[in-house]
Formats: sequence, C-alpha cells, structure tokens
Amino acid sequence: MTKPRAFISRRIPRPALEIIASACDYTMWDDLMPAPRDHFLRAAAEADGVLVMPTERIDAEFLAAAPRVRAVANMGVGYDNIDVPALTARGVLVTNTPDVLTEATADLAWALLMAAARRVVEGHKAIEAGAWGAWHPFYMLGQDVFGATIGIVGAGRIGAAIARRARAFNMRILYHNRGRAPQLEAALLAEYRAFDDLLRESDYVVAATPLTAETRGLFDARAFALMKDTAVFVNISRGAVVKEEDLVEALKRGRPWAAASDVFAAEPTPRDNPLLSLPNFVGTPHIGSATLRTRTDMATLAARNLVNALTGQAPLTPVNPEVWPIKLANGSR
Ligand code: NAP
Repeated sequence: MTKPRAFISRRIPRPALEIIASACDYTMWDDLMPAPRDHFLRAAAEADGVLVMPTERIDAEFLAAAPRVRAVANMGVGYDNIDVPALTARGVLVTNTPDVLTEATADLAWALLMAAARRVVEGHKAIEAGAWGAWHPFYMLGQDVFGATIGIVGAGRIGAAIARRARAFNMRILYHNRGRAPQLEAALLAEYRAFDDLLRESDYVVAATPLTAETRGLFDARAFALMKDTAVFVNISRGAVVKEEDLVEALKRGRPWAAASDVFAAEPTPRDNPLLSLPNFVGTPHIGSATLRTRTDMATLAARNLVNALTGQAPLTPVNPEVWPIKLANGSR
C-alpha cells in the first residue's frame, strides 16, 4: 500500500520527524529559515498533508497551488496564519498545538511583566552605559507587582496560566473574555469585568487573546487612555491586537506607564521601530514557546496530528473537526 505523502515546511526536532517518517513518504525543507514561497507551494502541491509553521500563510493561493492537500498541521496554537473557513469549505483538516506551550508562554508573559514593572532592561542598559550613579531613594523606581491587580484580556489556557502565577504574587485577578469562565472564577477567585472596566481598574493589563477580526487593533489609543498612569501593559498574544503607533504615543505620554511585548505588527520588527527607542518598553522576538522541551512537544503534537489525519485516525487537536473524516486524493480514508 502506498504511504501518504507529507511535506514539512521547516527543520523540526528529531522525535517529531521520526513520527512522520514512520508513516509517510515525506520531504522537508531542512533549514531553520523559511523556504521561498514558490518552493513551499510547489512542495505542498505534491503532498496529502503539510506540517507548517505559524509564519506560513495558508490561504486561497495555497489552496489553489496544493489541491491535493487534505490536512494542515500547524506547529502553534494560534492559527491566524490560516484561512480556516476557506480550508473547511474545501474539506481540509486544520490542527494546532494547544496546551503543550501554555506554561512556557505564561512564563515568558510573567518575565515581561516583571521586567517592565521593575525596569530590568533599562537598568541593565544603564549599567552598560556607565550611567549607574550613586544610590538614592528615588533611583529607578518601578511598580509593585506583589499584591497588585492584574487584568487578563483573553483568559483561556495561557491567560489562566498567567492568572495562576498572579495568585502566587497575591494579586487580585480580573479578566475579560467574550463569555464568563466559571472555572477560573472558582479556582482563582478571578472577577469578570467589561473590557473598559478592566482597563480602568488594572495595574497590569495582559493581552492573551487569539488574533481575530474582533481583537485586531483592540488595544488602541482609546484603550490606552483608559489605563492608569501607573499601569503596565503586556502583550503575549499577537502583534496586530495592538495599534503599535498608538502604543508609541501612549507610552510617550506615560499612560500606560510601561509596556512589554513578545509580538509585533510586523515580524521580525525593524530596528527602527519607534517602540524600541522608548525606555519604558521591553520587547522579545516572539519567543513565548521557545524552550527546547516545549518546541519538541509542539512539533511532536503537530506530527501526531498529521500522521493521524493521513492514516485514518482521529486527529488529537483539530481546529475544524467538522471536516473529519477526510478523504485523500488517492481515494483512501
Ligand atoms: P485559548 O485557550 O483559546 O484562549 C483564548 C481566550 O481568548 C479565550 O478565553 C477566549 O474566551 C478569549 N477571547 C477570544 N476572543 C476574544 C475577544 N474578542 N475578546 C476577549 N476575549 C476573547 O488560547 P490560548 O492557548 O490561551 O492561546 C491564546 C493566544 O496566545 C493564541 O491564539 C496565540 O495567538 C497566542 N500565543 C502566543 C504565543 C507567543 O509565543 N507569544 C505562544 C502561544 C500562543 P471567549 O471564547 O470566551 O471569548
């Protein structure tokens, strides 16, 4: 019996590769950098299923180029890179990698929150620049974290993991989702707030929503103006949930007092992004899930999803389960 054909769009950890190799005929773009788009599309055209990175656009152009593909396994929990309705309409299964990256991403959100609140990067730069003067009572004052109020916008898996860290810091926890999260309220004494109320009341505002039509540009000049002038804003979600030019102006005015972000409107963000010249901004280069164990777990889950889908077993974490079972181009399953 012929094996299903898979294309892997980037070099992935060996345990994940072995899962695919055991069940599929595969090709892989064996590099850390992305393949040129035309190569990616040509390689996908030969495949029944693809394992892709969140940086790959899976859209109408992809569907036109790769009509044989019946499964797209994304190595990421966010799938704003994929036109899910278009793929669903064509009977193409989409999977993502929830849960396995939750704790690592929450850890980074917490690192950013602490770094911005206590001026960690600014302090390091001051030492580097030889600008560390005498100790005095008002030198490099930051914001208290312990006992403060945190407001989480998008309190899902990652948001709840951030809330658990906040509990350990004796924080009051507010959250805003489209619906209530009774488990979060019961387990962590989190309190639901309307979006504007959360912004007004929080010392720390954390964005942890997916990027959707509703959340695109959610954090704009109006939102920042509602925050406290002592507030710290953290974005662990996607760059486009923030209007970056509005954040630049807001930080210059000091409301919020500081911000930190793992994600940017354009990635990699250019060196001359005005945010990077502000002392009250801390950035990291989209490394929320970047630990060896987490990346290996993500790749492994993506590989299992792909192999399951291509061998007739239910995928573990489907985004559009309604298309299951899928039918491969050779008629199997
Ligand atoms: P999740 O469990 O689905 O949580 C998302 C939460 O956002 C849900 O609680 C959802 O609640 C809420 N939400 C959705 N739309 C909303 C809206 N319009 N307004 C307010 N809340 C809304 O997802 P997750 O696993 O926590 O991941 C969240 C996102 O984090 C991903 O989609 C990804 O973009 C990002 N992420 C970033 C990194 C990184 O490296 N920086 C790593 C992993 C994930 P309701 O449905 O009730 O609204």
